Amino acid sequence: MSKPSEPRDSRDVSRWDIETDVVVVGLGCAGAAATLEATGAGAEVVVLERASGGGGTSAMSGGVIYLGGGTPIQRACGFEDSPEEMFEYLMASLGPRPDEAKVRAYCEGSVAHFDWFVEHGVRFKAAFYPHYSGEPPTDDGLVYSGTENAYPYDEVARPAPRGHVPQIEGKAGALLMQTLLAAVERTAARVVTDGRCETLVVDPPGAVVGVVARLDGRERVVRARRGVVLAAGGFINNRAMVETYAPRLLRCKFRVGAEGDDGSGIRMGMGAGGAAINMDMGSVSLPLIPPKKLQKGILVNAHGQRFINEDAYYGRLGEYALLRHDGRAFLVLDNATFERPEVDREVAGVGETIEELERELGLPEGSLQATVALYNRHAERGEDPVFRKAREWVVPLIESPFGALDCTTENSLYAVFTLGGLRTTVDGEVLTPDGDVIPGLFAAGRTTAGLSAPGYSSGISIGDGTFFGRRAGRRAAGRRS
Ligand SMILES: Cc1cc2nc3c(=O)[nH]c(=O)nc-3n(C[C@H](O)[C@H](O)[C@H](O)COP(=O)(O)OP(=O)(O)OC[C@H]3O[C@@H](n4cnc5c(N)ncnc54)[C@H](O)[C@@H]3O)c2cc1C
Repeated sequence: MSKPSEPRDSRDVSRWDIETDVVVVGLGCAGAAATLEATGAGAEVVVLERASGGGGTSAMSGGVIYLGGGTPIQRACGFEDSPEEMFEYLMASLGPRPDEAKVRAYCEGSVAHFDWFVEHGVRFKAAFYPHYSGEPPTDDGLVYSGTENAYPYDEVARPAPRGHVPQIEGKAGALLMQTLLAAVERTAARVVTDGRCETLVVDPPGAVVGVVARLDGRERVVRARRGVVLAAGGFINNRAMVETYAPRLLRCKFRVGAEGDDGSGIRMGMGAGGAAINMDMGSVSLPLIPPKKLQKGILVNAHGQRFINEDAYYGRLGEYALLRHDGRAFLVLDNATFERPEVDREVAGVGETIEELERELGLPEGSLQATVALYNRHAERGEDPVFRKAREWVVPLIESPFGALDCTTENSLYAVFTLGGLRTTVDGEVLTPDGDVIPGLFAAGRTTAGLSAPGYSSGISIGDGTFFGRRAGRRAAGRRS
């Protein structure tokens, strides 16, 4: 099902089964943040969660949170950062037209948002993990989680690691959600599990005044006096929606997200008149490393040509490989640079010469030979003038035998989830295609487009989900209908 969900007309509601100030739909990171702030602002809150417990995709995640501007962890690890540097990086990296107001608010509020996690019991170890970008296998609290320290963004803003990870070895997402859910339990919010929200209730001509939910096998109508916050995740597990809006993501075998990522929140919002934007966008991860040594290879497409600096963040590599090069990519290495990748990756071809390897990979005659010759010519001097890979990863590929690791979508791990969703204001109010606020309707997390756009960095999803989830919860709590 990919259609918007038709809302119920409030004139057809004969009585409300439950009445409250704010209804939060979904208890992942965005729903938890909205609940904590709405209750903190004095609102009565009912949370509807379709699973038998909260957590959602947030609990399955790596738990990396994109925070910066000079957090205590960044400072303790010896990194200088400022809201302005963070803003410059995000504005440059997040797609062709990032939402400037949201990026600005997010950067300026980032240190305070870090403090909010700590206040709610999340612990971060003041130690930097240097070996690769993304989720560390240790309990270290800080990593690079984007392309801050590689071309082109190292020239846009002073690089600083901004991936903050709750202190645990692995399963940081589960720990993060355990901690936030425990904080929700300490509030007066009423959490209803096994409670699937089916549609919104609307007062003509369009204000949202409640929801229809299925509880204990029965339909219940819940009145929300101040507002409804949709925080029901993305749509990677709704095949019809992915086919309609983001068909290229279907090329990837590893589509990641909890069962609830079926787009119901987005469809409810659209049914009430909300605009959905960036719906073709996804976070596409193509991890080449660890080990980091593999960055010394060159990534080529089906034309035997390079298309990116191989030291870029895995989300950028994946986006380029899938969205711009049709998911046809090979990592070419020589005997000196080859090492088994930690990610399970097949060898696509080997050859005593580059010419032989080119034939084995089925690349156009002369294409890979020309690419390697050009690369080696500059690599002799440790330079990569074409894609500007950092000097420490640039060595000529000259030692036989040569090989290529398979980075095609068919034979390789590309992990994807959706980034598109409802268009919202900085305070989580859902907007119509004309830019008007829908009274009483709020959204956060992957139900919205949030900050996400092409150029995603790890940690932005939990980061914007909680940051704008908090603002949505506060704004809903403060609304008078
Ligand atoms: C393996 C993996 C690793 C990741 N690592 C990171 C990372 O390190 N950092 C990062 O920022 N992002 C990461 N992500 C992405 C990130 O986890 C998600 O995008 C983010 O957690 C989404 O949060 P959310 O609150 O919007 O949705 P969710 O956490 O999915 O919560 C939505 C909740 O709504 C419920 N729900 C859905 N529909 C309904 C309904 N109709 N009625 C009632 N309840 C409903 C669901 O059951 C769910 O509990 C990762 C994702 C995966 C899969």
